[in-house]
Amino acid sequence: MSLRLRLTLLYTSLLGGVLLLFGVLVYVLVGVMLVSQVDDQLQQTVNEIISVTHVDSVGQLNIVQFPTLDLTENVFVQVWGRDGRLRASSPNISSLTVSMDSNGMKATHPVFSNSVVQQAHLRVLTVPLQASGRIIGLIQVGTSLGLIDATQRALMIVLVATALVSMGLAALGAWLTTGRALAPLETVTQVATHITRADDLSRRIPYNGVVQSEVGQLITAFNQTLSRLEVLFNSQRRFLADVSHELRTPLTVIKGNVGLLRRMGATDEESLSSIENEVDRLTRMVGDLLLLAQAESGKIPLDMHTVELDTILLEVFQQMRVLAGDHSQLRITEIDQVQVTGDRDRLKQVLVNLVGNAVKYTPAGGQINLSLGKVGDQARLIVQDSGPGIPAEDLPHIFERFYRAEKSRTRSRDGSGFGLGLSIAYWIVRNHNGRIEVNSKEGQGTTFCMWLPLAKESKN
Ligand code: ADP
Repeated sequence: MSLRLRLTLLYTSLLGGVLLLFGVLVYVLVGVMLVSQVDDQLQQTVNEIISVTHVDSVGQLNIVQFPTLDLTENVFVQVWGRDGRLRASSPNISSLTVSMDSNGMKATHPVFSNSVVQQAHLRVLTVPLQASGRIIGLIQVGTSLGLIDATQRALMIVLVATALVSMGLAALGAWLTTGRALAPLETVTQVATHITRADDLSRRIPYNGVVQSEVGQLITAFNQTLSRLEVLFNSQRRFLADVSHELRTPLTVIKGNVGLLRRMGATDEESLSSIENEVDRLTRMVGDLLLLAQAESGKIPLDMHTVELDTILLEVFQQMRVLAGDHSQLRITEIDQVQVTGDRDRLKQVLVNLVGNAVKYTPAGGQINLSLGKVGDQARLIVQDSGPGIPAEDLPHIFERFYRAEKSRTRSRDGSGFGLGLSIAYWIVRNHNGRIEVNSKEGQGTTFCMWLPLAKESKN
């Protein structure tokens, strides 16, 4: 059974239950009130009759003067002697010789009862008459319950009809409202099924309702999950494409050289060194990928110690000065004694990447400035170059795996990396509870800034 049908049935039966309870209460209450009014009237009539009833010296009931009483059409009276003989009766039932309530004939105290006499539904009050402590007869006063019965029947019809109409309206209302409320869930199901079938994560669930509602929150969460999955899947797909692309080029070169060697039937030094270069390149890439995978998952083995960042910077500076040669001017503008807690080799790798990129991308005659200092409880390393800068559209992506700005891709391959260096640097720094920031404008150089928490010893 669908949720919509179940909710509709639940609401309708709940309303039905409440209406039934209400109806029964009203019906019973009205009945009790009407009958109690009738009972009062009967009691009053009995009192009046008793006031005109006499007992003679031998204890017999004497005169009952009904005509003197103001009896209404609807009130019937019978006076019975002790011997069970009918002594008197009101003119409107003069032909009735049997008791209006035969069960009440033996009553020793006043009793009200309902009875059916000649197909008429009556309410009868039987009151024993006493004289000198003896029961000398009975008075029975009855009245027709026809009007009350008719009233109760009409009330019953009104109650049942109202209940049925209300339940019908409630069922319709519940069906429409739950239908409208659950419609987005159907869309969720359809979109989810479509995504599974068509493998299309770009679809989103449309929703125009209140975002804070339960359904709105569900759809927002679902759409966020889809966006996240889409990003992950795309990055996975791109990663595979990038890896295969990067692998194909060196493998083609190796295959070509091996074929050449075979055709020549002799060792060719040039081919061998080309093969060796490509194998080195592949080995480096596989190593970088492994490192990146470890760093991204936070499982990179880090040999943490107190490390002097200024010493590492000086080492990298020496190393890179050789690489920069006369091509560009590499200098340290500021250096402070800075200690951080970290893995020396990994941190050096980050510095090599940042300074290496600056050297690599800065054209001849350019300038690269390095500075290291403390800001609050953080170490700050700045690598600033006067190179070509990074285009705004590339800037948000440079820390992504295999990302290389278009211009860098078209650069000559010697010395160029795979677009993994900055990703590795980013993750290594993240694993050291630090961060890397970049500031760059095309044509105005690039500044990388690395922040790391200072080691306890280094804090003033
Ligand atoms: P690559 O191996 O291509 O250098 P990286 O991950 O180190 O890969 O850098 C990613 C991209 O960021 C580079 O391809 C380049 O486009 C850009 N980039 C990094 N550093 C600089 C810089 N100092 N100047 C200009 N562009 C840079």
